[in-house]
Amino acid sequence: MTKKYDYLKGIPELPEKPNIKKKRPKLMAVVDEDNCTGCSACVPFCPVDCIEPVPKEKYNMPIPPVQVRFDECIGCQVCARVCTKLTWDAIRMLPIDVFEERYMMKIS
Ligand code: SF4
Ligand code: SF4
Repeated sequence: MTKKYDYLKGIPELPEKPNIKKKRPKLMAVVDEDNCTGCSACVPFCPVDCIEPVPKEKYNMPIPPVQVRFDECIGCQVCARVCTKLTWDAIRMLPIDVFEERYMMKIS
């Protein structure tokens, strides 16, 4: 028998309720805002609910791209997998040290 939904392999079920970060992540999700369509497919999959639309004022467009609240991200990579497999390819996972250096932020 042919397996159904193979193209979703690697994408977990939608979380029932948001969790919270417990330790410093090893990776950080960064949305390429110029490449993100704003489809929001990744948003409900984030286990800590830390993906949100970029404020409309920044781009002045009807459907803005999304952004990650970096202090809350646990680096689980689910959003990147969802984006790549279901929609586009607009999320990069950066090692936390690289992220901190590039964005001049400290993540605890
Ligand atoms: S799934 Fe990808 S393209 Fe869609 S909102 Fe998320 S990051 Fe943007
Ligand atoms: S890696 Fe993506 S899905 Fe996972 S916590 Fe960070 S923003 Fe949410």
